[in-house]
Amino acid sequence: MNANELNRRDFITKSSIGLVGASTGIITSEVQEATFQHEFPKIKEYRTLGRTGFKVSDIGCGPAAMNNENLLKAVLETGVNIIETAEFYGNGNNELLVGRAIKDFNRDSLFINTKLIITNEDTKETIVARVRKCLERLNTSYLDGLMLWNPQKTEELKNPAFHEAFQILKAEGRAKYCGVSCHGSEYPSNARDNMEIIVTEAIEDGRYDLALFVYNYVQREMGENILKASARKNVGTILMKTDPFGKRYLDLFTQVRTLNSENKPVPEKLRIRYEAILEKQRLGEEFLKSRNLNEISKTSASVRFVLDNPAVSSVIISFDNFDDIKEYVSLSGTRLTAGNISDIETLRNFYSHLYCRHACGICQSNCPYNVPVNTIMRYNRYFTSNRQKEAIQKYHNLTGNKADKCSGCEGYCEAACPYGVSIHALMTLAQNNLDMAVTC
Ligand code: SF4
Ligand code: SF4
Repeated sequence: MNANELNRRDFITKSSIGLVGASTGIITSEVQEATFQHEFPKIKEYRTLGRTGFKVSDIGCGPAAMNNENLLKAVLETGVNIIETAEFYGNGNNELLVGRAIKDFNRDSLFINTKLIITNEDTKETIVARVRKCLERLNTSYLDGLMLWNPQKTEELKNPAFHEAFQILKAEGRAKYCGVSCHGSEYPSNARDNMEIIVTEAIEDGRYDLALFVYNYVQREMGENILKASARKNVGTILMKTDPFGKRYLDLFTQVRTLNSENKPVPEKLRIRYEAILEKQRLGEEFLKSRNLNEISKTSASVRFVLDNPAVSSVIISFDNFDDIKEYVSLSGTRLTAGNISDIETLRNFYSHLYCRHACGICQSNCPYNVPVNTIMRYNRYFTSNRQKEAIQKYHNLTGNKADKCSGCEGYCEAACPYGVSIHALMTLAQNNLDMAVTC
């Protein structure tokens, strides 16, 4: 049980006060209690989602909230009106949950986007049938956005079955806008194009109205180029992974302490790498403390950095708990401050070596064991962002060599990383998180 649950229980046992008046008037007691306890802010800005013309909230809702129906309802109560899901999240369970959560809200006020993994085996008939199932789960007669999930090569954007199926669904009124999402490598895969090439090609293709991709203050260049292309073609932009480090990405101290407390043998070479990375982090922590930077200012800086770009329509947030609603929704309609800019530079300087850039993979050809560095780092990020089960499962499903190879390796990949990422130490920590947990 976490602190939020304890607080909520305390509140329930100590208070018999009822609540009156919320924006829809049809909310559950748990949402009411949370609303009362947290005094949630409201969305202050809606932006036009490219040529769809739809006004979406600048703060959008990603998959984490979908583990909790009442949390999602509370998010929607604040005025968040864009929901991002996928056919494969929880094998359809996320869509089911969205379907239950939205039933008391005005459907026309919501922009619901789902994503499909499309393979060469799919036909227009199978895709249409799958989308109809998505609609059943989502408890709606139409999708606002239907996205092709994470193509690895530009050729996949042209998949005729996907486009034919979309045209059928559009003609039937079951899907309004076509989109693409991209966050980089999904190992194993053949040689692939990078995120910028793929999303820009989709924008130029003319059939894609929406693009969902990665942009944050560490990984700027690709995102900025895509945003410029989107603005030229009036494609709606939805951004993900806007906090490069995530809330729990920097808990290396804790992870290493855990390793030590479990009396796990740490080879000398590895210990030296740990100590180097920990020293960098210790200096960083001291500096952050001296600047009064905490999690809230990091969140504020990362979200505001993205929203500061006028070509961005909405930032997708994974709401983990009711406190997150307060923290993130209060950023709606705000702008980067001089303090945020300074915070961003500080964070970039101290933590850049801890962030494996999404949609990269440059170093992988230097690994003699063909370990999929970028993919494993992403799964570890899921793990440290409260998506442990999904991360463990994905890691488990990986074929070929994994991060266990790193412990006995010289770290040949590090020389190839242009960003100076401490790959060896991070991969060892990833192995500790993802593999040990599988065996639990
Ligand atoms: S470690 Fe560096 S080179 Fe390798 S995938 Fe990550 S950012 Fe790219
Ligand atoms: S540390 Fe070694 S095994 Fe691990 S990814 Fe780098 S080169 Fe490959």
